[in-house]
This record gives sequence, structure tokens and C-alpha cells, in this order.
Amino acid sequence: MFDGTNSTLVAEPLVVIADRAIVSVHGPGGPVPPGASIIDLPGLTLMPGLIDPHLHLCLDATDDPFGHLEQADDDTLRQQMAEAARRALRAGVTTVRDLGDRGYLALDLRDRHVAGRADPLPAIVAAGPPITTPGGHCHVLGGAASGERGLRAAVRERAERGVDVIKVMASGGNVTPGSLAHVPQFGADSLRAIVDEAHRQGLPVTAHAHSAQSIADAVAADVDGIEHATFMTADGVDAPEALIRAIAARRIAVGWTVGLDPGQRGTAPPQIASRMAALGASRRRLYESGATLVPGSDAGVSPAKPHDVLPYAPEDLAAVGLSLAEILRTMTSGAAQACGLGHRKGRIAPGYDADILAIDGNPLEDLAAIRRLRAVYAGGRAIHTAPGRQATTGVP
Ligand SMILES: [Zn+2]
Repeated sequence: MFDGTNSTLVAEPLVVIADRAIVSVHGPGGPVPPGASIIDLPGLTLMPGLIDPHLHLCLDATDDPFGHLEQADDDTLRQQMAEAARRALRAGVTTVRDLGDRGYLALDLRDRHVAGRADPLPAIVAAGPPITTPGGHCHVLGGAASGERGLRAAVRERAERGVDVIKVMASGGNVTPGSLAHVPQFGADSLRAIVDEAHRQGLPVTAHAHSAQSIADAVAADVDGIEHATFMTADGVDAPEALIRAIAARRIAVGWTVGLDPGQRGTAPPQIASRMAALGASRRRLYESGATLVPGSDAGVSPAKPHDVLPYAPEDLAAVGLSLAEILRTMTSGAAQACGLGHRKGRIAPGYDADILAIDGNPLEDLAAIRRLRAVYAGGRAIHTAPGRQATTGVP
């Protein structure tokens, strides 16, 4: 068993679960409580459920996700989002953070999950519609706002709706026509107003920022997270050493975008493809600086990003130099911390939610092991057991 933090596996583990949570964890020959049902998973490795800290349930991972979104009414969209969430769950992603929906629909799904419905979904934390400029990146999600009063009101509206995090589009993006990823949308003063209002409401802020200037502005504004963090300029990539050091020192969560459907490799947008070598170098420097790295998929935005793509992230992280233990930690306990769930997600330990995967292989030696998924338990409930690998007794 990989427990979410340690760099070595626990041999012959016994994990005791009651209701939705882990009660105790033992090594070989641990005591089985009287009357317990036993799920025996011989030859498999247990690990915490994966956590995707950046996806979009409302985008359908086609080549026109925003066009389809605009055509869908809320009820249709809700059903599509639930199916996207189930797809992630079947791949072992037991917690997702939705960083941009329409109409706060991801919060509806989140609250349905808490109510414990018959069809299980992953645990969801959600930002609601991302705050953007009028006509700016992802404006079709409905989050446009401007001026200090408007931006503060936008944050308060989200707080009243019960979001878990504020998402702001600090720079343009790659998937909105007319929006340029290397160009800032909000300046440092606007970002500061958003962060100040969010922190007053007890909410963290994560800023979508491709532009090198936007990353600098976001750091100056004291954001809690930066999504993508590609340091793009008009003609390349510029990641100043002092900025990298500041991101590491302030423990800002760097939301790298990783994981591609293997059939869709080589389909990066041209503005990313042409910068790939420089992006790799800046990622390596962030890693070597000790920055807090939180890999997310951005699932939903393109055909290369289906909602179950996160298990393909390890290859991208290994290419930067992360060890397999670091990769597993960042995709479980590290991601849980970044999502504000470090106290109950991302570890197999007493008091944590029983979100547990059983995989075939040793994930500390084999990047692909997390894709040989044999069973998923979400809140102690069996979600998926591959054919021929049925648990022997007592699936709860
Ligand atoms: Zn995104």
C-alpha cells in the first residue's frame, strides 16, 4: 500500500473502514474487527484515490466545447456534468476541483454528492463561473466583471453561493477566440482587489495565468494558486529567477496542466507547441526551486482532455524530473492540500475518507501502474471492479 505520503510501500496492509471513513490501518496480520466484511485484494496495491485539482465538468472534451455549452440548457448540462464526473471516478479520480462552470452547476453536483445519492460521484470542490473581463477568456461561462467595485461584488456573489475557491482569469487563454494567452486581462490592482475580498470571505484565489506579466501580477497580489504558469510572452517564455523563487518561498500552488489522451499526443495548440522546450525548462526550474506543484488535467477543454485523463499525468511529471514517489504524493496528498481537503482526502490513514484504489503493480516503480485499475472505493463504496478481478467477499 502507498499511503499518500511515504516513499515506501506498506506490506500486506489491512485497512479498516466504517461508514465512509478509514478507522485504522495495520501491517501484516493486523486484527480484523469481529463481524467485519472482508474484501480481499490479493496481489494488488492499494493507494489513495487520485485528485484532479483542475478540470471543467461542463466542457465536453470535443473540438467545440464552448459551442456545445452555449447550445445546452441547464438540465442537459447538469446531466453531462454528472456523466463527466462519473467518468473521472471510474478512472480512479475520487476528488475533483471544478475551476470554471456555468451557472454554479458544479456546486449543485457537489451538494448532491454530500446528500449521498444512489449514483456516486467523486467528491467535488468548485469555483463557479471564473471571474473574467467582459468578452475575455471563457466569458461564455458568465463570469465577466470589471472595476474594483464590480470585482469585489463578483467575489461576494461567489461567497454567497458557497464556492470553495475563487478562480480568476488573470491572462487570456488558448481556447477562447480573440483571447491571447500571453496578454494580461487584469492588472495587479484588480487582482489585489479580488484577493483581498476573497480572503475577507475566507476563500482562496487561484489565478489562470499564462502570461509572464500576469504571473508576476498574481504573485504581487498574493494569490494562493496559479493555474498553467507557462510564463508566456509574445514570442516565447520568460520565467525570471526572482519570480520563481517568490512562488516557491510563498508556497503558491502551481497548477501545472498535464495528462494527454495517448491517442491525441502532438495536438497541443500552436502557441504551446512552439514553446514546448522553453516550457519544459521553466517547469524544471520551478521543480528544482522547491515550488509547490499541483498537477491538474484541465479536462474538458479539448479532445486530448477527456475527464478520465489524469492517470496519464505521471509521464509528463517524470519528464520534468519528479521521482515516482513525488508524482504519487503530488497527485494524492499534495493535491488534497491544494484543494483545502488535506485533512480528509489524499491519504490512507485513520480519519480520512475511504477513497481507495486497488491497482495491479507497484506505482513506485511503474508509471503506468495507476492505469491498471482493478477497484475503486469512494467513501468506502465499491465503484468499479474490472472483470475477472471481483473482490472475493462482502463488497459494502
Ligand atoms: Zn481550465
